[in-house]
Amino acid sequence: NLPTIYVITPTYARLVQKAELTRLSQTFLHVSQLHWIVVEDSAHKTPLVRDFLAASGLTYTHLHMLTPKDRKLQEGDPSWLKPRGAEQRNEGLRWLREMAAAAGGSGTPIENAVVYFADDDNTYSLQLFEEMRQTEKVSVWPVGLVGGMKFERPVVENGKVVRFHTGWRPSRPFPIDMAGFAVSLKLVLANPEARFDGDAQMGFLESSFLQNMVTMEELEPKADMCNKVLVWHTRTEKPKMKREDALVKQGLGSDPNVEV
Ligand code: UDP
Ligand code: MN
Repeated sequence: NLPTIYVITPTYARLVQKAELTRLSQTFLHVSQLHWIVVEDSAHKTPLVRDFLAASGLTYTHLHMLTPKDRKLQEGDPSWLKPRGAEQRNEGLRWLREMAAAAGGSGTPIENAVVYFADDDNTYSLQLFEEMRQTEKVSVWPVGLVGGMKFERPVVENGKVVRFHTGWRPSRPFPIDMAGFAVSLKLVLANPEARFDGDAQMGFLESSFLQNMVTMEELEPKADMCNKVLVWHTRTEKPKMKREDALVKQGLGSDPNVEV
């Protein structure tokens, strides 16, 4: 009985959403004992995501939590202005705590389970999931193509994390990207107040969650003592709709009944 990996993914409606979810789900299909918690940033669960998950072949939980308008990035805002996905990750954590309480701490899915926050647009190696599967408290590894760097990573000396290789404010409590750590469900349950602060300053969202749960000395370095990049903070270009828009004006737009 392998420890279950609960993967929490915030997602929101946009042209590339189904493509992102397809790529992600087809990675997850190759991972054993993975439970996908998909949290839509929307007022309701959407048919697109509902149907997509039902056909995915994955074990999943479908949730939704709308980001309040004052916390949402507006068109034209610089992307660093407000953290994205915070309320959705918190909703995933709420579900996990509720699920664990209902299970009474007995069942195997909870024993030794691990929680990972996987944005819908990153690129994940299958090896990453086997690295995180054994996590006592918080395991950490490098993240590629992030923070204006080739990679960021915890720096390991004698098997312990001693500092962080990052291009910006290394003094942050945990200068680690969301994709660069996993937490044991045990630790999440032992810290019922731990959550992501949607009002956190730029770059402090990860720290807001981790800082009262774990110390740097306790971090468990994975991926060959943080020498291997197994996850990449890729970002998908927004598709241009110039020709589509022109055709729509002539009443010749792509059939809206075809889901993209
Ligand atoms: N996201 C969301 N609502 C939004 C914007 C983003 O739920 O309004 C999700 C998105 O789908 C992704 C995560 O939050 O899973 C992080 O967003 P994004 O990838 O845009 O952030 P970045 O790559 O800039 O860190
Ligand atoms: Mn992203």
